[in-house]
Amino acid sequence: MIRYSEIFLKSEPVKRRFISIMTENIRLALEAEGLTHRIETPRGRVLIYGDEPRRIAAAAARTFGVASASVCTVTTADIEGISATAVEHAERRLRPGMSFAVRARRSGVTGFNSQELGAAVGSAVLDRIPEARVDLTAPDYEVFVEAREFGGLVYDEMIRGPGGLPYGTQDEVIGLLSAGIDSPVASWLMMRRGCRMVHVNMRSGRFGGEDEEKNVLANHARLSAWVPGHPLDLLVVEMEPFFEVITGLKEPRYRCILCKRFMLRVAGILAEERGAYALVNGDNLGQVASQTLANMAVIAPATPVPVLRPLIGFDKEEIIERARVIGTFNARPGNVGCTVAPRYPSTAAPAETIAQIEEENDVASLAEQAARTVRRYRAKNGVVEEAG
Ligand code: ATP
Ligand code: MG
Repeated sequence: MIRYSEIFLKSEPVKRRFISIMTENIRLALEAEGLTHRIETPRGRVLIYGDEPRRIAAAAARTFGVASASVCTVTTADIEGISATAVEHAERRLRPGMSFAVRARRSGVTGFNSQELGAAVGSAVLDRIPEARVDLTAPDYEVFVEAREFGGLVYDEMIRGPGGLPYGTQDEVIGLLSAGIDSPVASWLMMRRGCRMVHVNMRSGRFGGEDEEKNVLANHARLSAWVPGHPLDLLVVEMEPFFEVITGLKEPRYRCILCKRFMLRVAGILAEERGAYALVNGDNLGQVASQTLANMAVIAPATPVPVLRPLIGFDKEEIIERARVIGTFNARPGNVGCTVAPRYPSTAAPAETIAQIEEENDVASLAEQAARTVRRYRAKNGVVEEAG
């Protein structure tokens, strides 16, 4: 049984659409793992039937929009059938001396209410395991029982899902993906929020480390594993000609601002071409010189396309923790250092100075040219391939 998160707050037609997108995504996830199954969506529930319920629950519990998944036993929707199955569950995990609670629900079934169901199941458990005791506030063991139109359900475990909204329920965004830790987490958060994702990476060429491309591709591939069955594109853009220009300038301290503005400019061009509504990056307030409020205010206007910064208020520890769970944390990224960054970057660049430097060096055309150098990679189910 799958529980969904905020989808239940939606109006009926929206809810129906979101659930059908979510169940299609679950189907794709199970198909990617070769798990044969059947999905049913009775009122308020998503039920998946199959021969390998544990693997099915684990795979479904990675799907965006899913709050949790439980392996259930299906019984008849009456007190006798449900009690007998609940006792079987309790016998496996409820030891003498432990406390327990029965959590009962009932809907579309008459003859008893949920309190009566809970009490009946509780006394059936106590009959079998008299050394156990009831504790409804902080039990050692919980068994969940539901009586519904389609039958009874009994379970005692929940696998937490990622929550969020089903992938594809929101429009396309362009995620600026680097070899680092932050941007894959930023991208994942927007995918979890339902946005269809396209990644863009700016390749530093001879100005970057030799392990950069490998790490970017690994990040991209791992993120694609969160949306099984969906192709995830990565557009790689050449930034070397731009770096040639800015490394020749006499004032090195504005390089990072110029670089970040350039990235947004190019990504903005690609977004407008594709009809994507927003860019996403891993900016995090105060993390580096280019992420002070003053510099972000100078960087953001480089593109008319809105920039989403889901990590803006996170602590680095929180980002790393999430990166580990997502699977993109790499403790040994190798050589990914940027050789363009100056030793003393400006933390508050004057907007007029930046505008003048860009004007003098015709950065607008450099950005147009860079946007024409796109090489495309396509990832699916965690595997990435060059796609031309
Ligand atoms: P880390 O994750 O270790 O902080 P980073 O790649 O995020 O490294 P930042 O200087 O913090 O480096 O960059 C801020 C944001 O700009 C990134 O989160 C990412 O969205 C974007 N970005 C940085 N470098 C690139 C790149 N080469 N290509 C595309 N986007 C990039
Ligand atoms: Mg960063």
